[in-house]
Amino acid sequence: MIAEVTGIRTIRMLYLQLLYRCNFACQHCFHGERLQHADAFTLDEAVSLMRLMHKDYGTEAVNLLGGEPFVYKDLPEVVRYAKQELGLQVEICTNGYRIERRLTEIAPHLDLLRISLEGNGATNDAIRKFGSYQGALSAMDHARDLGIPTGATMTVNARNIDEVLPLARTLQDHGARQLKLHHLRPVGNAAHHPELLITDTAAYGRLREQLGTADLTIEVIVDEDLSEEGTLEACAPAPQALSIPRIEADPRGALTMSCNAVGKDAHAFWYDKEAGHIVHRPSATDEIALAVPGVVYARA
Ligand code: SF4
Repeated sequence: MIAEVTGIRTIRMLYLQLLYRCNFACQHCFHGERLQHADAFTLDEAVSLMRLMHKDYGTEAVNLLGGEPFVYKDLPEVVRYAKQELGLQVEICTNGYRIERRLTEIAPHLDLLRISLEGNGATNDAIRKFGSYQGALSAMDHARDLGIPTGATMTVNARNIDEVLPLARTLQDHGARQLKLHHLRPVGNAAHHPELLITDTAAYGRLREQLGTADLTIEVIVDEDLSEEGTLEACAPAPQALSIPRIEADPRGALTMSCNAVGKDAHAFWYDKEAGHIVHRPSATDEIALAVPGVVYARA
């Protein structure tokens, strides 16, 4: 259905939000009140969507997330099916809190463990959860001992922008290969924390300068919206792309192609879980009608 409507033939990665539930309630979380919602993929639905994306759109990688994917009881089966039956590259994006036992179980089928952190020590814990910083680092060490490559993500905000470099150094000491920096979008819980928003975009310029001159061995990937020009809210419709890098399925089955549209309910397509196929539900405010641009990531 996506191909018929948009001309898109290949979608490299499926971001599969298995459930909304999470053991955290971070101040910046884009899910907001949906963290309390019970919607989730069943194991059969998750398997069917991965199979559909692989078969119809040549999807070669899946990133399992939530909510918190390690709270999802069928995580080992999803991971095993993605790797063994479909041959996908399998990544998990987690808060890393007390995951060691389950991580050991899925280690043979996992290609990358990505842990979210918002700064060093107390800064992280104030935004995420008390004890989460140490929890994340011990999960990272455990993954390294199991031979699983690790990375981290950080959502840059007014409280942690000065900790990007210190965190990058800590992460490289713990063996992480990559730190991915995201722009904070004022949706979900972040909409209730305006103090986190960066209003002086010159701060992004200073951050980029620091990253450019820092002697880091860890790869740092930056959301291009972290720029002095600020976020690009809309653009002219791009010429029809045959291939896009990603699509994200939320636990209800709503699909989003642009990171800029995540959390904004701008869905043009849904995965109909009962029917087992993708349907087009256009509206005047969907991401195609609004021409929401994709997020561009680049090396710092
Ligand atoms: S940001 Fe991640 S860890 Fe934090 S509440 Fe949201 S889903 Fe949970």
